[in-house]
Amino acid sequence: MTTTHDEKAGFSKPLSLAERDKAVIWHPFTQMQTAPLPIPIVRGEGTLLFTEEGKTYIDAVSSWWVNIHGHSHPHIAEKVAQQLRTLEHVIFAGFTHPAAVELAERLLPLLPTNQNKVFYSDNGSTAVEVALKMAFQYWHNAGKPRRKVIALEDAYHGDTFGSMAVSGRSPFTAPFLPFLFDVEYIPTPVPGQEQAALDRLNALLDDDVAAFIFEPLVQGAGGMVMYQPDILNELIRLARSQGALIIADEVMTGFGRTGKLFASHHLTEKPDLMSLSKGLTGGTMALGVTTCTGEIYDGFLSDDKFKTLFHGHSFTANPLACTASLASLDILLSDETQASIRRISQRHAVFAEQLQQKPGVKNVRQQGTILAFDLTLDGSNRSYFNNIRDVAYQFLLNEGVLMRPLGNVLYILPPYCITDEQLDTVYTAIGKLLKHLSGSESTL
Ligand SMILES: *Cc1c(COP(=O)(O)O)cnc(C)c1O
Repeated sequence: MTTTHDEKAGFSKPLSLAERDKAVIWHPFTQMQTAPLPIPIVRGEGTLLFTEEGKTYIDAVSSWWVNIHGHSHPHIAEKVAQQLRTLEHVIFAGFTHPAAVELAERLLPLLPTNQNKVFYSDNGSTAVEVALKMAFQYWHNAGKPRRKVIALEDAYHGDTFGSMAVSGRSPFTAPFLPFLFDVEYIPTPVPGQEQAALDRLNALLDDDVAAFIFEPLVQGAGGMVMYQPDILNELIRLARSQGALIIADEVMTGFGRTGKLFASHHLTEKPDLMSLSKGLTGGTMALGVTTCTGEIYDGFLSDDKFKTLFHGHSFTANPLACTASLASLDILLSDETQASIRRISQRHAVFAEQLQQKPGVKNVRQQGTILAFDLTLDGSNRSYFNNIRDVAYQFLLNEGVLMRPLGNVLYILPPYCITDEQLDTVYTAIGKLLKHLSGSESTL
């Protein structure tokens, strides 16, 4: 066992899990010098995460938006365990397996009707990479290469180089700026910005634009920025009029998050390519999917080997991940889960009305099961809480609620199995936070 020598006591004391972690692990999106020790979690059940000492946290952000049915779901666990004893993995070039085929067969009918083929990869970033490569190579194969991509400002499409390139430029991408391919941006068409977005898109469009990529209706990591289907329909029609391929990155918005199975179902226009991940496996394991239309697929069919899509990962279509996805779909499509999605959406709407009245709260917005707002501070508190994100994060953890504010944006994005009582706990914790931040006596 790893120990540390305690000089005073004269005996060796075992290191805590968090200390052992610190000795050997580098965490994502974490400044390791200043970050507090991580919180060890030894068990999960439903919406709850348990520490060794039995303290619980309500996972109000679905563990980075992936966990849609709660932790350690017995149905997913059972199916994956069976699959693990049957076939854990098989090479996916030249071979196939039942779970991959069944998942594609069940997934495609749930998507916009023009989606025709499924390409498997490992996560959200790779699902975006594959969509971009399909788009660029589609034009290449057609003998009409196009080099430009248009994206939305503040977009987030992942952390690998291609997906970073089409994400908004920010401190997160700054060190890599010279290595990112050129992308043109249009304003995110939030209310008031619709015409500016249309005008900019119109100015940028020409026959060199390969693709237009966006997170439909909700930009996640950019701060839960929300915009309306009508303007997105207009932007898609405009981009398509110049031949640009339309890529809907539904990595976060997919699988019921926005109140419909996919955010694209709020639209009349259909994307040519879609990227899916996060909720796909119910948050059990990593898997990415890129889907495309028959027309794009056909653009790669040829006697010429060089028109092949040369892309693949060692774990492409891993049977365990495909099985977890199939089990997750069973749960997602059940009446119970669909009712729960409506219940959460309705309860969020009621809480949103209360929030509007609160000092220190701006820009309350909701799309389905996602509720978000901006924390603002009046002058007196500003310096004390100059790091409002960290203050809010810690305060909510102390209340037993895991939320991870994006800067000053606080949001709830819960597993669909969250109970009314747990939702009340989350809402109450937010009320207490607001009171703490404003120092006022107001209560929710
Ligand atoms: C999280 C996210 C990604 C990246 O997915 P990873 O699995 O973290 O690589 C891409 N696009 C969107 C919209 C996301 O929210």
